[in-house]
Amino acid sequence: MDNVETFGTLRAMKKSALRVTKWLGDIPIETRCSFCPETLFHAASPHHCPQKAEYIERLQRAFDSHVADCHREEIAATDAGH
Ligand SMILES: [Zn+2]
Repeated sequence: MDNVETFGTLRAMKKSALRVTKWLGDIPIETRCSFCPETLFHAASPHHCPQKAEYIERLQRAFDSHVADCHREEIAATDAGH
């Protein structure tokens, strides 16, 4: 049983994550996937004044779709725990 728990921890550590590469004050404007250094996500907004919550949501959504496209195995592993 101990081995199973250790395996679960290792799997969690290998999960891809959203990393912020550029900040505008305290607002993230560019992020990347922790697994794919070349994959950058930009938060573009039609507004003149950047909205922090909106930018975070845009970047999170772009990252989610990237994970769905490129890291399906991780999602499958996560969903299996339901
Ligand atoms: Zn990735």
